[in-house]
Amino acid sequence: MPERKYLIGGNWKCNGTVASAKELIKVFNEAGTIPENVEVAIAAPFIHIGLVLEELRKDIATSAQNCAASPKTGAFTGEICASQLVDMGVTWVIIGHSERREGFDMAGEDSELVAKKVKTALDAGLKVMFAIGEKKEEREAGITMKVCAEQMAPAAKLLSEEDWANVAIAYEPVWAIGTGLTATPEMAQETHKSIRDWVSENVSPAVAEAVRIQYGGSMKGANAKDLLAQPDIDGGLIGGASLKADFFNVINGAP
Ligand code: PEP
Repeated sequence: MPERKYLIGGNWKCNGTVASAKELIKVFNEAGTIPENVEVAIAAPFIHIGLVLEELRKDIATSAQNCAASPKTGAFTGEICASQLVDMGVTWVIIGHSERREGFDMAGEDSELVAKKVKTALDAGLKVMFAIGEKKEEREAGITMKVCAEQMAPAAKLLSEEDWANVAIAYEPVWAIGTGLTATPEMAQETHKSIRDWVSENVSPAVAEAVRIQYGGSMKGANAKDLLAQPDIDGGLIGGASLKADFFNVINGAP
């Protein structure tokens, strides 16, 4: 059985100033050692990536929160290309976050576009935290796994088995993001196991065994230990708590 190293991603979203990012970097730099079985990445806003690359401790990787679907650089105002992120020294990118799929003032990204972005990012040399997850009404209707499968299917079609080595699936129930509501460890484990089974059937058993599945949704120091103790929860994608010293309690919550 391959060992799955825990992956804890911090998603700073559209928060902070240069001054507050510098302050948080200082807190993280002084927060003590990171356990050997944990990999950590911080997804900063594009404008703070340079600062993070320069000042954040080197045992925390840098992530973007989005990239363009097209591999082409050129006359695409406002876009950031995956190859430009690689050129800068960025390691990871979050693709498919529910706040980009829908949720704020823009046309949302559908699963076909998300899959395209995942493939473009991987081809450029980035690693991808590939976010999926159901809304409250979908969980209540009992279609959680149907929704997750539909979100993963276009990516499963585009990605080769080798591509999956650089993908972590971030299962983030939308109703738990930023709400203070967390899936219970048992609830999250059940969905993570179903996701792994789906990957086994639709990609390969080897990829299913190796792929890391992060949980995201109001994860913090106080609940990380119980979530990370579940056999199919291989890390977390952390929003609010990644803006505080508590992020290190999540990191240290890994068994
Ligand atoms: C997220 O945005 O990925 C997230 C999980 O946010 P929060 O931890 O604040 O719920």
